[in-house]
Amino acid sequence: MSPRALVIDTAFVGDVVFTFAATARLAAAGFAVDLVVRAGLEPLAACGEGVGRVFGLDKRGAQHSPLSTLAFARALSRAGGDGRSPRRYDVVLGAHPSLRTALLALCIPADLRVGWRRLGYSEFVKRPYRFVDDRHALVDRVLCGRSARPDFGHGLPRLAIERLGERLNRTPSSVPAEAVALLPGSRFATKRWPLTRFRSLAAQLRDRGIATVAFGSAEERLEHGPLDVSLDARGWTLPETAAALSMCIAVVGGDSGLLHLGRAVGTPAVAIFGPTDPLRLPIDPGRLDLYRDDLKCRPCSPHGAAHCPRGDHACLEGLDVERVLSALRSLGVG
Ligand code: SF4
Repeated sequence: MSPRALVIDTAFVGDVVFTFAATARLAAAGFAVDLVVRAGLEPLAACGEGVGRVFGLDKRGAQHSPLSTLAFARALSRAGGDGRSPRRYDVVLGAHPSLRTALLALCIPADLRVGWRRLGYSEFVKRPYRFVDDRHALVDRVLCGRSARPDFGHGLPRLAIERLGERLNRTPSSVPAEAVALLPGSRFATKRWPLTRFRSLAAQLRDRGIATVAFGSAEERLEHGPLDVSLDARGWTLPETAAALSMCIAVVGGDSGLLHLGRAVGTPAVAIFGPTDPLRLPIDPGRLDLYRDDLKCRPCSPHGAAHCPRGDHACLEGLDVERVLSALRSLGVG
């Protein structure tokens, strides 16, 4: 019988994409891998390499309180079996540094619980600075050198595209050919390149005969209004978005989950960095990083913030459309 692993990552889309590095590697080493993600991300998580069962934690709703988190942990403990026997997990990995994740890990019986903090885990691993390396560090502890780190080629394991097909309600064939994907949104306001720039970029690409597709959430579409793109796919599900991103010739966006999703499906990307540090991302020749290197204030935040500390958001306000067009040209677009 395969050893069983439970990986917990209840952060955002990009984090889950990075965590697929751990699920892919554990599965390759013979583990049956279950994954806990933030509620709503289950359909995407189910497309991850090596992922078996997926559990959604509604940490802003039904499982918000510590007591309900404990009840969720009890249910997970029972899920460690195969449905016929109550066999527990052999390994629990905490791929998120929060106290809630540590509490969950602590309450799930397992032979080995590995995380980036001491509380909640039987083994503590110092967290490397780069995403994906940090997931590998957890898996290294489980495999104890029995498996070399895989070379994913571009820093991330590929999303299992064939699994996406099972989850599509909408045919991505409506995506125009040779289109550039535009990702104007981000959970943190300081990571968003101004909408006026995206509009200008879309117009300039259209003048060159290049179609554009906007991706993001339905809430972003309501909040930001129309973008005058060839196709507005904001509001599509994450698997639909991933499938459509894989059909685009390039992705342009800030340091956001959808940008990382775009790279996970192999589409070249222009990444526009404001307050965050590109050195935290996996080394990836398919991603061109743009940022202002003349600003002493940047990077000012590990994951972005709601407001610019110096007030003018110069890191992104001062990054013009021509730089993005030039980066696209170096990717062979335009
Ligand atoms: S302080 Fe600097 S890096 Fe941070 S958001 Fe403001 S302009 Fe950008």
